[in-house]
Amino acid sequence: MINVLNIDGQPLTPCVLDRAWREVNRARAVWIDEETIQLLYNPFLFRDYRKAALKRDHYTCLWCGRPGKTVDHIIPSSKGGSDLPRNLIAACMECNTKRGSRSAFSYFREKVYSAPHKIKLFYRIVKANVHHQVN
Ligand SMILES: [Zn+2]
Repeated sequence: MINVLNIDGQPLTPCVLDRAWREVNRARAVWIDEETIQLLYNPFLFRDYRKAALKRDHYTCLWCGRPGKTVDHIIPSSKGGSDLPRNLIAACMECNTKRGSRSAFSYFREKVYSAPHKIKLFYRIVKANVHHQVN
């Protein structure tokens, strides 16, 4: 098991090695030593942001309109995208996986015919990108 430190250095519940690598690869954590990672975000806040985003989007995938239980970062975390709800949209597992780390604009072009609220979705993508450039 890998020790996990909170953003302020407090120990959290340890996690398995796979999970630790996933956090580091997503630029959400850094290795402190061979057995310890430190998170660069507050996981409790993220849980709340995630829940808020899913609720706001009525647990519906904004890409395809099917039930969505995962959140997709408009700007990927690996590119410095924030965990605030304005950078999150509800997505089904399939869309989330298919999109991967492609830009939201590129996936939007692919999904433009199936997206149930394409204007709303496009507006949200633009807005997240504007915030990302400002901050
Ligand atoms: Zn979908």
